[in-house]
Amino acid sequence: MRAVDCSPLDERVDQDHSEEYRRIREFIAESSAETPYLVFDTGMAANRYRRLAAAFPDTQVFYAVKANPQPALLRTLVNLGSSFDVASRGEIEECLAQGAAPESLSYGNPIKKVGDIRYAHQRGVRLFVFDSEAELRKLAEHAPGASVFCRILASSAGAQWPLSGKFGCSPAMAAQLLVRARDWGLNPIGLSFHVGSQQLDPWRWEPSVAQAASVFAEVERHGIRLTMLNVGGGFPARYTQEVPDIGTYATAIREAVRRHFGASAPAVAVEPGRYIAAEAGVLRAEVVLVSRKAHDDETRWVYLDVGRFGGLAETEGEAIQYRLASGHGAGPDGPVVLAGPTCDSVDILYQRAGYRLPLALTSGDQVDILAAGAYTATYSSVGFNGFGPLPTFCIGDDNE
Ligand SMILES: *Cc1c(COP(=O)(O)O)cnc(C)c1O
Repeated sequence: MRAVDCSPLDERVDQDHSEEYRRIREFIAESSAETPYLVFDTGMAANRYRRLAAAFPDTQVFYAVKANPQPALLRTLVNLGSSFDVASRGEIEECLAQGAAPESLSYGNPIKKVGDIRYAHQRGVRLFVFDSEAELRKLAEHAPGASVFCRILASSAGAQWPLSGKFGCSPAMAAQLLVRARDWGLNPIGLSFHVGSQQLDPWRWEPSVAQAASVFAEVERHGIRLTMLNVGGGFPARYTQEVPDIGTYATAIREAVRRHFGASAPAVAVEPGRYIAAEAGVLRAEVVLVSRKAHDDETRWVYLDVGRFGGLAETEGEAIQYRLASGHGAGPDGPVVLAGPTCDSVDILYQRAGYRLPLALTSGDQVDILAAGAYTATYSSVGFNGFGPLPTFCIGDDNE
């Protein structure tokens, strides 16, 4: 299969992706499943975990379950010693069912229902986030004695999938609330922040590390020694653009911590989601139609059997630009608009990003969407317009 250059950014896709995805390709070649479907190689995810863990020694890794909650992936990560960032009762249940210890879970959603807090506490979860006084009050009442950390607002500049201003509070408020946490019988242990997903600039962590250091100092004046700095996720996957190596991120974060905390550096924690899961998955799709809006239009419209509602939600605003591979050789290509199969006009994947596909492409051809293992299958609708949710086939062994 030839990888289509979706943009001139990446000429090397061709050779390396076929080797990289060898096991997935073998599975697809043998499979008679109907498209679209996702094939996820837990062994590849395990390698990503190992690479990240090696870059961040002495760092607790909480896998952000929302990126891909496949049970086989969770089991693989449990076997590798990962901890987990969970956001709901459902994610807690799934992690525990796959063998995660309750003490390895961090309930990292600052917006939790009281019933879910009680459930988590009763199942043995002991680490919770908050970013407001009202949430802290809920924790004090329904998870008494728990360890808590406060999320501070962070800029998402430089991220391709920003997390905007929905989560986190100001550093000044964080300091006050952490003191209050102690007064309310909780165990305040630190801070977290998230600099936006698919963050392409390793130096975007530093401003938040600097703010965190001032909160640690302020809280210490009240006799509380915080011990954990959770620097969130955001570590990128390779889509159509080359991205810095994970080691560059680790170095930048380590240097920022050294600069702003000096000798009293806290334990650092990370919450990777996309970095672990994205490159371990390939989404196999089929071309439903290739058409033009006028006979003399150069641009063809290529409609796939998967779109915005079938798992490709991150194509919103053309933010995440997946690499594609079609079965055509190195023949001539031309510009395309890529769209999904539903009768909704927002179901367009790429119109401005400059995708090109082979001129020979036709209905019934298969197309692979590469590095599609994160934020896809669980984003798919349950059946909009009669198109079912995206099935996942996991390959690999829990102990890889
Ligand atoms: C989604 C999420 C993550 C993972 O982010 P990635 O960009 O996929 O690494 C980490 N932490 C929290 C709190 C999240 O909500």
